This record gives sequence, structure tokens and C-alpha cells, in this order.
Amino acid sequence: MQFGLWAPRGHRRYLRWIGRLAAAALVSGAVVWGVYAWSQTIFLKETQDRARATLALYTEGLEGAFRKYEAIPELLARRAEVIALFRDKDAPAAVARANRLSEDVNRTTGAEATYFMDTDGHTFAASNWRGDLPFVGQNFSYRPYFQAAMEGRLGRYFALGTTSNKRGYYFAYPVKDEAETLGAVVVKVDVERIEAAWATGGDDVMVTDANGVVFITSRPEWRFKTLFPLSEAAIGQITRDRQYNLADLTPLDLAPWIAGGAASGLVRIRAGGRGPGPNAEARQATEYLVEARHVPEADWTVHILADTRSARAQVTTTVAISVLVCLIAILSAAIVEQHRRRLVDRIALERAAAERLEQNVRERTADLTETNLHLEREIAEREVTEAALRRTQEELVQAGKLAALGQMSAALSHEFNQPLAAIRSYAENAAMLIGRGRQEEASDNCARIRDLTGRMADISKHLNAFARKPRGQLGPVRLDQVIQDTLESLHGRLDAARARVELAGEARVPPVIAGRVRLQQVLTNLLLNALDAMANQAAPRIEITVEAAANQVRVAIRDHGDGIAQEVLPTIFDPFVTTKQVGSGLGLGLSISYNIVKDFGGSLSAANHPDGGALFVLELAAADVPAALAANA
Ligand code: ADP
Repeated sequence: MQFGLWAPRGHRRYLRWIGRLAAAALVSGAVVWGVYAWSQTIFLKETQDRARATLALYTEGLEGAFRKYEAIPELLARRAEVIALFRDKDAPAAVARANRLSEDVNRTTGAEATYFMDTDGHTFAASNWRGDLPFVGQNFSYRPYFQAAMEGRLGRYFALGTTSNKRGYYFAYPVKDEAETLGAVVVKVDVERIEAAWATGGDDVMVTDANGVVFITSRPEWRFKTLFPLSEAAIGQITRDRQYNLADLTPLDLAPWIAGGAASGLVRIRAGGRGPGPNAEARQATEYLVEARHVPEADWTVHILADTRSARAQVTTTVAISVLVCLIAILSAAIVEQHRRRLVDRIALERAAAERLEQNVRERTADLTETNLHLEREIAEREVTEAALRRTQEELVQAGKLAALGQMSAALSHEFNQPLAAIRSYAENAAMLIGRGRQEEASDNCARIRDLTGRMADISKHLNAFARKPRGQLGPVRLDQVIQDTLESLHGRLDAARARVELAGEARVPPVIAGRVRLQQVLTNLLLNALDAMANQAAPRIEITVEAAANQVRVAIRDHGDGIAQEVLPTIFDPFVTTKQVGSGLGLGLSISYNIVKDFGGSLSAANHPDGGALFVLELAAADVPAALAANA
């Protein structure tokens, strides 16, 4: 099973990051290594090219410096004067001349020393004959340059002066007279001056001989050091030739390749050379790039050691920059990746949120649909219930109507039966009285019968008012006249009750929209009710107030009775509502009046006056017609 299959998500991401980091590190490592190798090649190559050019200059300079002296011994040796001096070398005068000559030549050429040797190697004249350490009298037969000269060749040789203890390059040429060798002319060239010039050049340069001994160098501490340990043969030769002080010859701390000769490459040198010493650990090894050139005629090798520090510094800088670039690249990639990751996460989150939302919407929609269905069911149920209710209501209304009809029938039968019974008994009585010849009494009974039938006719007239449709034209009616007519028609009743009617309010009000007779019927009913309410009063008082308001005329009728019974007040305008004795009232008067006023487009209201008594208010629409027309109505 693969690890990735069961690793948790966070863990997997962590592992992925590690993997990427490792890959990035690997690539960066390779890049940095490549840059290191490339920059090292480039910068060391640059250093090498520079070193090579400098080396060529040094080599040519050195060769030039020595070449100047190379021919001098030969020139001198061939001169007849010199040959003569060699011949007379035992004569003090000749020696003195030889000394002066060598001195002159030496001064002219600028050599270190110029001297004459006989065939035994004995120096009989020298340019430094006046000096502290004159060569005169010294025997240098052990020097190879002398031996070469004795062999007839130009001797050239580098050595540390045994007398002067100064390094020098020697040129020696044999002095011959015919075939006979008389000795040798030797010119010693100063090396230190060359060295001094090199020291100011700022380069590390050295010249080694065939044994690898450094004999000219711009670095004094390298002087007489060897490139590699001296062989037995070399030690023997140096001792024999007294070329150097053997004690000085310690090897430089060089890599083995340099022992190969004229090779070039990198080498590390400790400043103080090899071997134990108090500062052995402290001595810093310096890396050089070495370029070498062999000078065959002298069997020398000229080395230039270019310090690689600046090249190395450039390499380090380049590598540092490449590391930095890699780091920035990794960092940028990480940031971009992080950004991308976050974007992906956000998109995923948004998608999840959208899906959640959709799910919610789906659920809510389902809920709503269900609620809707539920509501529809409820509505249907309610409709059914309503229909049932309506049916019940209709049934109730029907029942109410029947009850009202029953009630009305009872009241009517009561109203009619009583007078009928009375009529019957009066009629029987009248018949009996007539039979007995009591005409007067019979006539009285008949009068009573007439009254009773009149009353019955009244009742039926009232009932007619219910039955008939509103009749008669509506038009402008003068209220004061109607009130006046009503009062006149009730004159008898009012007088009988000793009642007083007080008219108040405005004298002239506009005519109202009504039917004259019906309006009088309403007023009559209200006034009679008022009289009934004050039946037990000795001097009943009725106040009628008329006033105009806006487009209406208001008529208030107030009595001073006991007022309307509370239980009656809310239903006072309903038919058959009455508090009166059976036979005295049908409870139809107000109901009929209410309907009449409604037919006029007005209103009728009932209330109890705060100071006692009932207050009926009649409001009628004012007719907007000229008064003359109204008068004719
Ligand atoms: P009826 O006079 O035949 O009873 P109405 O419809 O005229 O029928 O009156 C209904 C009832 O209203 C009366 O029985 C009475 O109780 C009450 N009522 C009417 N007018 C007055 C009034 N002015 N004062 C007190 N009660 C009144």
C-alpha cells in the first residue's frame, strides 16, 4: 500500500512540500555548483592570462638585463691589451693596470664586479681591488663558470658570493693567446638590483635554477627555498661548487606538481616554508596560480605566482549571488504556490458554500412546497368550514326569521284577539241592550266597537308600513311646517297629558330631503314615545331643537322621562323591541321610523341625555333649492 493513500490530507500536503523543497534544494545545489565551476574557470582563467602576460614581461626583462653583460667578458678577453695583462700578471705594474682596467670597465657597465683569473682559478686583478673584501688573491677554481671558461666556453652561473656573500650571476670567458689559454675574464652581475625593481612591481615572481632553488624572487622570504627536496647529487654539486649555503636551502611548502618543472596550476605556499617552528600553525597558506617559463640557455625557470584571492572573491560573490537568486526563485515559487494553493482552497470553499446554499435552498423550497400544500389543504378545509358556517348562518337566519314571524304572529294575534274579544262582547252587549230598549247604552257600546276597530286599523296600517316599498317622491320639505303640522295633529293628546312642547334652535333652516307625510309619521312616533315615557308626570316637557350643520339639518327631541332602558338601547331600532305592556306597544314604531329616515338618506339615533330623559336625534340632508320652490312642496 502506498503511503499517500492513507496519509491524512494535512500530512500529505506537508510531505509534498518537503518533496518540493528537496527537489528545489537539489536543483539549486546543481545550479550553484555549476555557477561555482563556471565562475572559477572564468575568473582563474582571467588571472592566468594576466599572469602569463606579466610573466612574459618579467622573463624578457630578466633576459635583457643579463644579456647586456653576457658579451662583456668575451669583448674584454679578446682585447690585445687584456691578453698582454694576462701575460704579465706576475708584474705588479701589470696587475695595477689590470685592476684599474677592470675597475673602469666595471664602472662603465654597471656590473657588480669584473675580475681576471689565471688558469689555476687564482684572481690576480679585480674591480673591487680597493674594497673591503677584494677578490684579488682569491681562488675560485671550484666555480663551474671558471671550469666552463677553461673548457673554452662562455661560463654562466648563479651563486652566492663566497667572499662578498652577495648573490650574483657570473659570466666567464676564456682569455686565449693563440691556442694557449691564459685565464678567464669574469663579470659578476648584481641580482639584488633586479630584485629591488621586481619588489616594486607588486607581483610574486621567482627564478629557480635546475635544482629548484629559488635564487631571484620578489619575496625575500622565498629566497634560497627549494621547490622540492634536494637530491643527493644536487647537494653534492652545491657543496662542491660552494654555490649556496646548504643550511638555507629548505623546501617551500608547495604542491607536488610544481616539482614537475614548467607546469602551471594552483599551488598553496606557506609564507615561512616547510618544517616545524614556533609559528608553524599560525602561518597562513596562500593559494597562488603559478605560471612558469623555462629559459633554456640559462637552464632557469621563471615563475610568477598570481594570488587567487581576488579571483576567489569574485567566485564567492558570484556563488553568493547565484545562491541568492536561487533562494529568491525558491521563495517566489513558494509564494506563488502558496497563493495558488490559497486560491484553490478559496474556490473549493466557495464551491462548498454554494453547494451548501443550493442544498439549503432545495430544502427550504421543499419546506415551502410542503407548507404551501399544507396551506392549500387548510384553505380548502376552511372553505368547507366556511361553507358549512354559511349554511348554518343561513339556517340560523331562517330560524331567526321564523322566530320573528312566530313572535310577530303571537304579538299580532294578541293585539287583534283582545280588541276582537272586546268587540265581540261589546256587540253581544249592544244586541242585548237593543233588545232591552236601552238604546243609549247600546250606542255607547257601538262607539267602543268603533274605537277598537279604529285601533286595529292603526295596527294594520303600521304593518303595512313594513310591507310596502318606500313610496312617494322625496323632495325639499320645510321642516318647520312639518313640525307644526305634527304638533297640530297631536294637539288633543298633548293637551290631555298637559304636556308642553318647547321649540328651540334656528328660526329658519334650509328645507330637507324627505317625504312630508312620512316625516310627520316619524315625528309623531317620537313625540308619542316621549309622552309615554312621561305618562306619570303632571307637566311633561318636550324640547325640539332644530339646527343646520354643513349640508344637514339636525332635529333633536328630548323628553324628561326615565330615559331608555339600558337593555333596550343597543337594539332599540329592531322590530318588536318594546318595554311596554302587551296591548300598549308593538315595538314597531322606532323600527319603522328608522327605515323611513334611512329612505330619506338621513339617520336616526337614540341616546340618554346626561341630565336624564331620552334624546332622539334626526339628521336629514339639506336640500339645495330656492326657498320659493321649497314653500310649494
Ligand atoms: P312601542 O312604543 O310600541 O313600544 P316603539 O318602537 O315606539 O314601540 O318603542 C320601543 C321601545 O323603546 C319602547 O317600548 C320604550 O321602551 C322605548 N322608548 C321609546 N321612546 C322612548 C322614550 N322617549 N323614553 C323612554 N323609552 C322610550
